[in-house]
Amino acid sequence: MKEVFPLKVGFIGIGAMGKPMAKNIMSAGYPLVVNDVNDAVVQELVADGAIRAESPRELAQEVDVVILMLPNGAIVESVLFGEQGIIAGAKPGFAIIDMSSVSPTFTEKVANAAAAYQVDYIDAPVSGGVKGATNGTLTIMVGGEADVVKHYQPLLEVMGNKIYHVGKVGAGDAVKIINNLLLGVNMAAVAEAFALGTKLGLDPQVLLEIINVSSGSSYALAAKMPNFVFKGQFEQGFAIDLQYKDLELAIQTAKEAKVPMILTNLAQQVYEQARAAGLGREDISAVIKPLEELLKIQVRV
Ligand code: NAD
Repeated sequence: MKEVFPLKVGFIGIGAMGKPMAKNIMSAGYPLVVNDVNDAVVQELVADGAIRAESPRELAQEVDVVILMLPNGAIVESVLFGEQGIIAGAKPGFAIIDMSSVSPTFTEKVANAAAAYQVDYIDAPVSGGVKGATNGTLTIMVGGEADVVKHYQPLLEVMGNKIYHVGKVGAGDAVKIINNLLLGVNMAAVAEAFALGTKLGLDPQVLLEIINVSSGSSYALAAKMPNFVFKGQFEQGFAIDLQYKDLELAIQTAKEAKVPMILTNLAQQVYEQARAAGLGREDISAVIKPLEELLKIQVRV
């Protein structure tokens, strides 16, 4: 760990989540070096005062700690261990904070590999969506050695206001996949329930109001129905492709642990259907669209 202040921070993966998180880090006064394969977002952050790195390797040479907010484990692995990857540029005492949603076993594997280079590793996946990332109010589930986690806590507090150190490296990812398993299953159930309600001639707004104060309530209902489905607006939320990936992480992890995942496997097929219909980039609430088409209804207010 580097005992320097302020820490020089690197950020790789300046997407829907990463961009507002990176902006909050700069607003808190940390010097920030950024890297992303999408040049447009890099340019936007450079205009805000960030420094561009041409590769993860170059970035690692410039900073004390790097935050990753990347789509999946395969990309995290290439950014870490590729020829132009972080490890190629990192010195002993460097730290990696992976905030992407990946599997706990993947994180254990890459954290062990990083340890061989005397590089510290923390998994710190998040919940709270783009809104939480923008407002710095994410829930962050952290796995790692206690002293390392404590050292980087102030940096995490710039991005979130509910930070839980839940165990050794990989434990944060385990909590995250369990949370997202519930979100995925709940959203699929809410879509099915509202398709039935609308087919039966009920007013979706009335249905929402009643269930919100009844035992069928959930985040998927309270946040996704009024903000996405009722408006017929499915942009800029949590993508179906990412939710599908998270269900797959839960299913694979459960297989390794010999735990049956009956509802999770069924729910994943609902997202598979939506992907087959070309809805992968839309918000998870768009799983209602194939049902709407089948039933010749629209759940709108
Ligand atoms: P995104 O696709 O918007 O952003 C990913 C970014 O990574 C993009 O800017 C992309 O250009 C960049 N990238 C891809 N490959 C790269 C590479 N090889 N090198 C450098 N940059 C690369 O995704 P997102 O919605 O910001 O999600 C990021 C992570 O956060 C995912 O693991 C996701 O599951 C998780 N997450 C997302 C949400 C959400 O609401 N969107 C909420 C919680 C967690």
